[in-house]
Amino acid sequence: MFIYFLSFCEGIYILKIKIDEDKCTGCGNCEEICPKSGKIWKINTVAHVSHLEYCHVCTLCAMKCPVDAIKIMRNAPRE
Ligand code: SF4
Ligand code: SF4
Repeated sequence: MFIYFLSFCEGIYILKIKIDEDKCTGCGNCEEICPKSGKIWKINTVAHVSHLEYCHVCTLCAMKCPVDAIKIMRNAPRE
């Protein structure tokens, strides 16, 4: 099951980060590597993101995820 996080809208630009809860182990790598981790990431049993207006779209979190559970969509469709 995927969790979708709508981040921010700036004209037609919508950034989303989705976490695959079935893959996420809660390891915390994403939170550790993110330059804005305190504002964006919260790890319980799985990872959650919020306040993506602080996201640089550096993709470090996705690159550091050992189970490929993070998908970053820079130009996601509105829902
Ligand atoms: S893309 Fe970069 S700034 Fe955005 S959540 Fe991931 S690590 Fe943080
Ligand atoms: S790095 Fe991947 S597996 Fe680890 S907490 Fe973040 S999303 Fe979950």
